[in-house]
Amino acid sequence: MRERIQDESGIRAHDIYGLSEIIGPGVGIECSAQHGLHIFEDHFFPEIIDSETGEVLPEGAEGELVLTTLSKQAMPLIRYRTRDVTELVAEQCPCGRTLRRIRRIGRRSDDMFIIRGVNVFPSQIETALLRVEGTLPHYQIILTREIGLDQIEVKVEVTPEAFSDEIRKLEALQHQLEASIENILGLRVKVTLVEPRTLARSEGKAKRVSDLRNV
Ligand SMILES: [Zn+2]
Repeated sequence: MRERIQDESGIRAHDIYGLSEIIGPGVGIECSAQHGLHIFEDHFFPEIIDSETGEVLPEGAEGELVLTTLSKQAMPLIRYRTRDVTELVAEQCPCGRTLRRIRRIGRRSDDMFIIRGVNVFPSQIETALLRVEGTLPHYQIILTREIGLDQIEVKVEVTPEAFSDEIRKLEALQHQLEASIENILGLRVKVTLVEPRTLARSEGKAKRVSDLRNV
């Protein structure tokens, strides 16, 4: 998506990180190297923990980002758990800054769901969808339970080009997507193709998963 934005606008796109509980965007940002986000360590103290045990992990290990504000007044936060999963990079950046970097946030520790005993992150499904041409980065995961068995359905928007194709081609695309997801998750899922711009767009953080199993 970034490449597309850059190519079509002629503007370089930089990832910025933050959370509304702290200051919103601006806790960290990518430099010209576009290779990880420098954390403004003079204002925020980052740690990476194991989200199960709370244990602080060594540099380079993947885990949940925990932030302590160092300069915030009135509402300081101490060891605040972000639920964002990343890793801390201490090695010096080509740009010359010595502030440590975090890898781009790909998933959260709490958007994981368990289906038929398998731990699934929506980002894994996104990866599987991106491997197949013809879909847009808009999808929704619906979890239901039928006769005691968990069912997973992925609704995904197809590109306008793909949608005007004949039924046979759409069925082939659907099977390709199902195979791609199964390849990553080891789970058979039902893929439903929907027209471009039919899935709800969310403001800010996307709500990808509807878990209807306990309703
Ligand atoms: Zn840099």
